Amino acid sequence: MAVYGVNRAVVAQRNSGGHVKVYAQFRTELHKDLDPSGVEAVRARLLARFDGWAAPVLDLLRHGTAFVDRPLYALPVSHTWAHVPGVTLLGDAAHLMPPLGAGANLALLEGAELAEAVVAAHGPGELDDAVRAFEERMWARAARWAEITAAGLERLVSPDPAAAVALFDEVQA
Ligand SMILES: Cc1cc2nc3c(=O)[nH]c(=O)nc-3n(C[C@H](O)[C@H](O)[C@H](O)COP(=O)(O)OP(=O)(O)OC[C@H]3O[C@@H](n4cnc5c(N)ncnc54)[C@H](O)[C@@H]3O)c2cc1C
Repeated sequence: MAVYGVNRAVVAQRNSGGHVKVYAQFRTELHKDLDPSGVEAVRARLLARFDGWAAPVLDLLRHGTAFVDRPLYALPVSHTWAHVPGVTLLGDAAHLMPPLGAGANLALLEGAELAEAVVAAHGPGELDDAVRAFEERMWARAARWAEITAAGLERLVSPDPAAAVALFDEVQA
């Protein structure tokens, strides 16, 4: 369930074990809003931030038992590095991007591809060429997803909630 407002959203996701994880999303200065020292202090600040929202949505914040501050960081789109023989990066370390459904999938795919490349290579020269080729492929694909997720985040937490809702129609189309 996702509810979008001006520069903010409340998203509830059913998890295993009968839990519902709720994301209160908004743009703010880093670490300004969530003082982890007290659950009630955090709750009060969140309720003030979402003041005026419908009661069933606010109930998700009222009944929360623990709050975790998760600022979103991202590496620049098209981030690459000078190849270093004997070492590489994959997953978030290589291309941290907004959490819009791509990061874990990319990390798993890259793990499989790198393993395949390493197993298929014969000798140090071939191994290095294989890792270079892996990096080139990963960078190109990650750049595409970094751009998609950055643009998605711009719309999901934006001054125009209708733009956020329309994004779901576009993804389904
Ligand atoms: C709120 C949220 C929702 C998301 N939803 C999705 C989704 O729906 N679909 C999707 O595909 N992706 C999603 N992602 C992104 C996904 O979680 C990440 O892209 C993915 O976990 C990256 O995997 P990774 O192995 O590269 O890094 P991580 O999962 O961060 O793993 C790195 C590990 O290294 C450990 N570590 C760090 N430093 C050291 C050290 N010095 N020594 C030893 N260990 C160390 C860390 O503790 C961690 O366990 C979401 C992310 C967030 C934050």
